This record gives sequence, structure tokens and C-alpha cells, in this order.
Amino acid sequence: MERTCQHAVERDKHDKESKKRARKQMRAAHTVLRHAGISTVSYATQSLVIANGGLGNGVSRERLLDMLKGFGSVLCLLMPPNKPYAFVKYDSFEDAKMAFLTLNGCKLQAEGQPVTLYVNFVDKVDFKEHSTQSLPPDLLVVEDFVSLEYEQELLHLMALNTDTQDTKTAPQKSLKHRKVKHYGYEFCYDNNNVDLSAPLPGGLPTICDDVIDKCMKNGYLKSKPDQLTINQYEPGQGIPPHIDTHSAFEDVIISLSLGAKIVMDFKHPDGQNVSVLLPQRSLLVMKGESRYLWSHGITPRKSDVVPVINADVAQIVSSDLGNLTLNKRETRTSFTFRKVRQTPCNCVYPSVCDSQSTGKLNVPPSVPQSEVDASRLEQDFVHKVYEEIAGHFSSTRHSPWPKVVGFLKSLPSGALVVDVGCGNGKYLGVNKDLYMIGCDRSRNLVEICRERQFQAFVSDALSIPVRDGICDACISIAVIHHFSTKGRRLAAIMELMRILKPGGKALIYVWALEQEYNNKKSKYLKVNKGQLSQKDMKESKHNELTSTTCSHNMEDTSEDTAEEPFQAELTIHTNRTSFLSKDLLVPWHLKGISKNSRETDKPSVESDIEPQNSAVFHRYYHVFSKGELEELCAKIECVQILSSYYDQGNWCVIIGKLL
Ligand code: MN
Ligand code: ZN
Repeated sequence: MERTCQHAVERDKHDKESKKRARKQMRAAHTVLRHAGISTVSYATQSLVIANGGLGNGVSRERLLDMLKGFGSVLCLLMPPNKPYAFVKYDSFEDAKMAFLTLNGCKLQAEGQPVTLYVNFVDKVDFKEHSTQSLPPDLLVVEDFVSLEYEQELLHLMALNTDTQDTKTAPQKSLKHRKVKHYGYEFCYDNNNVDLSAPLPGGLPTICDDVIDKCMKNGYLKSKPDQLTINQYEPGQGIPPHIDTHSAFEDVIISLSLGAKIVMDFKHPDGQNVSVLLPQRSLLVMKGESRYLWSHGITPRKSDVVPVINADVAQIVSSDLGNLTLNKRETRTSFTFRKVRQTPCNCVYPSVCDSQSTGKLNVPPSVPQSEVDASRLEQDFVHKVYEEIAGHFSSTRHSPWPKVVGFLKSLPSGALVVDVGCGNGKYLGVNKDLYMIGCDRSRNLVEICRERQFQAFVSDALSIPVRDGICDACISIAVIHHFSTKGRRLAAIMELMRILKPGGKALIYVWALEQEYNNKKSKYLKVNKGQLSQKDMKESKHNELTSTTCSHNMEDTSEDTAEEPFQAELTIHTNRTSFLSKDLLVPWHLKGISKNSRETDKPSVESDIEPQNSAVFHRYYHVFSKGELEELCAKIECVQILSSYYDQGNWCVIIGKLL
């Protein structure tokens, strides 16, 4: 009795388990249909789809094949790269049926953890991925480009890092995802560009001459590279998909793969993906379309999908799905040689070209001709942009400018001060004796201020919700240059004056047309050494200036716009070059930075290179020429200019409200 009962329990348990398995098998069939469009059939065929038995699950070809062979003679096993399933075709229906009956719910040891397999019949094994793929246009992989001995010599360069002499000529960093070392010019991960004015001493190591000479001789390179980046990737490390910044480097980029093979993923903007196996000691040559239009990256993982046969030959990985398995990665070191660009890029791929600065910009907007235009321009190219870039922007703004701090420290204790356009609030806490409130048009920036326990609110600088005449002082740092008409810039200053007490002071900073480049000051700056005397200022004022009243309003722009030459389209500024006009769009390269990372107030060196899905945003600026800010202030009757100077690329004034 007892025994029968025991049997019944076991049978019941067995039934439950097989029902559960059948359910999971069914679910697996639905999943492969839904996600991969693979139709399973309910009758026996020679072929099976094996859910969870894919390279994407960390299942190696060898291990799976071993298991499958246990049920019969395998005709072919197709394993698409990175997919969670595989296909097997048996010699006979019987073999396939045997596998079908036995394999469901079986566990198989994969990389990391075991997986449970579920199988279903398929009519035929057929893939779109199997279609003939070719390398991205203009891409070349040259096998055995350097000898084993030479490889060792080159690798020795990366090992040299304790030598202080060496760190000067070749700064080394440990990024989150890999180790890097630069020669010739340092690559700056904040803006994904090089600083042309700061070449590293020593240039490229002479040991690289042979590589470069061979490339010149073979026609891979037309001119000698002057920048070398050595990247070292441990298993599990990678680099996000990116296009090397167009404006930073010339067309051809070459890269040696040393120490181990790796798979590099190339992606066309239309979504086309090509994974290319870069064998050890091979040379990758990227030029034209493959350099400018396709992104490339290395997926951080511990193993790569590689061909079983010819795993050391340069090839497109997914060209034969019947020949793929996993290869455990080893330390791979790349030597990437590039030539820095001295002039903007004029490639034929404007949609991805930062020099041609499209990014999110389809048609560059025009200089506004009406109040409506102006407000729309500022909405699209100031407000929305700051909202998007707030976190990244904030992470680049830490050090308060000393002269602004000086102004705030000069104010009497207990003074009520408003920072109009306070950004991330970097000035709100510099003088604890003041009662400081910040406001900014960007909700996200105000949020950052609040997280830092500062008083801040969202407000437009043209209508600040603060009563007339109550502030002892206010500051407007790098704000007024974002207004796109003279009338609006004037209105912004008048708004500052409105909230000031008679006798109160305002400090204003705006971007100067006159900038310093390559550490050389312009002629003008050499002569003036920054500080402008009252006399200089008076001279810089236009003669036609008439005094206006505090009620000067912003509709009065007709005469103002007429003063400036008509400019149809806004100029897109190239960073680190002189301003070509006074009204321009300045690119901001947003790095892949999560909203949370704004909490860490540190520049994020770990976000290596502009990810493919990151964007170039454009901010509108009106850059002020010498005397222009003073001229604008002088239009307001109640204003007295107390001092004016040049600081950090800005024209600055301290103005007082007359009693
Ligand atoms: Mn690259
Ligand atoms: Zn370009």
C-alpha cells in the first residue's frame, strides 16, 4: 500500500515535471518566433532549433556539438553570433526525433553558468544573417603585418610606465574600460579631440618608424601620422561604438592588433552590422566611408564569437554560421596611428561630421529677424540644449572664476544676492555671509543646485519673479550672450537693474569675440592687458549713442539690427578656433553620461569616446566685441559703469544702479 502510494507520488511528480517542461518548450517556440521570426512545426523534421543553446548564451560550438552527436549523426550546426539559439540538422528524421525527445530541459554547461535547453522542430534551416556580407567600404585588414619579434618590442612600450620621463612624453591613463597611452598629442576624452597647441614632447616613439614606413610604402598611408594611442584591453573590457572625431583627425586611421585577436564591430547608420575578426599582428586600415561613416567598437565581454576553422585569419565573423564558436579573449593591445587635422573636415558625410556640425541640426537656423524668431531660436538652441546637456555640462563646471569670487567676497555680510543664470550653482556657496539665491532657465540645472542644498528656482532672465529694487547685488555670468537680439540683451540687463536696490551692483560676464588661441593673446589683448580704463571705454562707445531711459523696451530693435550686417544663416563655430562671426552656434559634444552621474561632481574620464548614439548639440551665442557690453549698459539711464575688464575670454562689467 505504502509502496503504491509512493509510486503514485513519484508518477505524479514526474507528470508535473514533464508538463512543466512541455510548457517551457512551447514558450521557447513562441520566443524564437517572436524575436527571431523562426517558425517551429509540430511534426518531425530533420532540423531543430535549440533555444538557450546559442553563442549568445555562452555556449561553445564544441560543447553543444558533443551533446548533439549523442543522438545521431549531425549534418550541420549553425550558430548565429550573439543569438540565444542554434540550429542543428541531423542525417535522419529518427536522429532528430531522438534529440527532440531527450534534449528538452537538459542542462548544458555554458560560460559562467549552466543553461537549460529547449528544442523544437523547424522545417528548414534558413537565415537572413547568412546572406553574403562584405567588409565596410574602404576597410582593409592586413594579416601578419608585423613579425613576432617586432610585436614584442612594440608591446614593451606599453609596459614602460613607471619611468617618470616616459609619463611626460606619453601620458598614461586607466580608463574604466581599458588602459591607454598617448604619444604626439594627448587625446582628450572630455571633448574627444586633441589640443593642437599642446603637442607632447618627443613625438612618436622611433620604434614605430618601421610600421609607418611599411604603411607608406604599401600605400596604406599618404602622410606620416603624428599621433599614437596605445590601448590595452583585458578580457571583459571594450570601447563603446564611436566614429573617431572628424575634426580631430585626417582621413586614414591605422591600427595594429597585438598580443591577441579580437572582434571589432562595425555599424552603418542604417543599422547594418559587420563583425570583423582582427587577428593578432594584423593591421586595420580605416579610410573613407569606413572611417567617416561607420562606427567601430569592441563589445566588453570575456570571449568572442570566432570561426572554428581559420580563427587566425582576418574575416567577417558571421560569414559562415556553421563555423562559429567562442574564443576566450586575452590581453589585446592596439597601436592606433592618426594624423591630427589642422583644418576643418570637409568629408561627404555631413550627417556625422562635427566640422560640418550637423548632428542634431538639419538646417542651421537664421539670425532672428523678429521677436518670435528670437524667442524660438533661444528655446531650441539655448533652453532645450541646456536641459539635455545639464548633467554633462555641470560635470565640466567646478572651479569658480576668481574675479567673480572676488566680487562676491567684496559684498557686505548679509547682502541679498541673486545669481541670474546660476547653472549648477558654482557661485551660490562661495561666500557664506551672503544670502544668495540662484535662478536658471534650465529645470535640470536648478535641480542640480537643489541637490547641492542651494536655494534656486527656475526663471527666465527676462522676467525674474523678484520684486523691484530689493537686491543688494546680482551676478549674470555667461548668460546674456545667449540672447539673440540686441533688444533682448538690453532687456536682460534692464531686468537685473530692476531687481537691484538703488546703489546696488551687478556683475556681468559675456563671451568675448576677442579670444586667446594657442596660448597667444591677440594683438589687442597684448596691448590692453585686460583692464580697460574709463577712457578706453568712452572711446569705444559709438558717437551716435544717445542716452535712453530705463523704460527702453525690447520692441525697439529695428535700428539695432540695422547696425549689424545682415547674416542669413548662423555660423557654426569650430571649437578652438577664432569666432568667424558674432552670432553663432557652438557645438556641445554630449558624452554618454547618465542622468545619475551628475551627482558625482567630477569630470567623467570613464566615458571614453563619444558613443555612437550620443549627439552634438548646438548652443546659440552672441559674442561681444570690445566695448559692446559697456555700450549696451550705457543705454540704460539708471546705470553707472563702475568698472570693466577682460577675464577668461569674457568681457565683464560691474555696473551700479544710480540712487
Ligand atoms: Mn576609434
Ligand atoms: Zn567630416
